Amino acid sequence: MHSGITVLSAGFFLSQWRAQGVGAACSFRAHDYALRAGQSAAEQLAVVNARERWMRQFAFSPEHAVFMNQTHGSAAMVVAAADTGRGLRDPAQAVPQCDALLCATPGIALCALTADCAPVFLFDAARRVIALVHAGWRGTRQNIVGRTVESMCHTFASAPENIRVFLGPALRDCCFEVGEEFIGYFPHAVRRRGERLFFDIAAEIAGQAARSGIPRAQIFDVKLCTHCLRDRFFSYRGGDRCARNLSVMSLCHV
Ligand SMILES: [Zn+2]
Repeated sequence: MHSGITVLSAGFFLSQWRAQGVGAACSFRAHDYALRAGQSAAEQLAVVNARERWMRQFAFSPEHAVFMNQTHGSAAMVVAAADTGRGLRDPAQAVPQCDALLCATPGIALCALTADCAPVFLFDAARRVIALVHAGWRGTRQNIVGRTVESMCHTFASAPENIRVFLGPALRDCCFEVGEEFIGYFPHAVRRRGERLFFDIAAEIAGQAARSGIPRAQIFDVKLCTHCLRDRFFSYRGGDRCARNLSVMSLCHV
């Protein structure tokens, strides 16, 4: 599903965000950014160092990183200055049990780890609010993107028509084979090819964003499949059971 044009247009799309004071980026396969039980102290240190290096490279502040303890649920948490640094070095300190982070504080770097699940970036330029969502099929079934939009509107008085969405690299319908039960979960986003069924999570997420009131023209999908491009991204179905891609989003100081 690799498309040079899409990658270029994604760069263009994100450069527009950058011009408005928002940074958003997703890592390539150069390093595993996941901290987990069973790693040695040296392995954990290597992950932390890699996180810090990569974030600085994209002008994010690692000291202001906020990681979450992702659970494939639908909870969206608002974070502020007091949360900075959570989960960067110690996963036990990450924001507990949530799959979306929101903030309106410049400098805070929202972080999500994925390996087939979709990182979804949301930005309200009018109220200067950002949100970063970890959306797998379970969270998507619980409308996590819609719930995050609701939270932006409720907490920060965002208007959906001002919100823009960027859907990052994820397992796509080319590779996301599922069972019959998915037809019940996602009646409009399961594709049949011969005997096999495939889930189009990107279409489902875009639908949730649109049903929340976000104009379709403001929903950008990078259209990169982590499984097709497992030389560039970690992919759970591609065999990466533990390693994770890192997505980061931050409001710049203006
Ligand atoms: Zn694919």
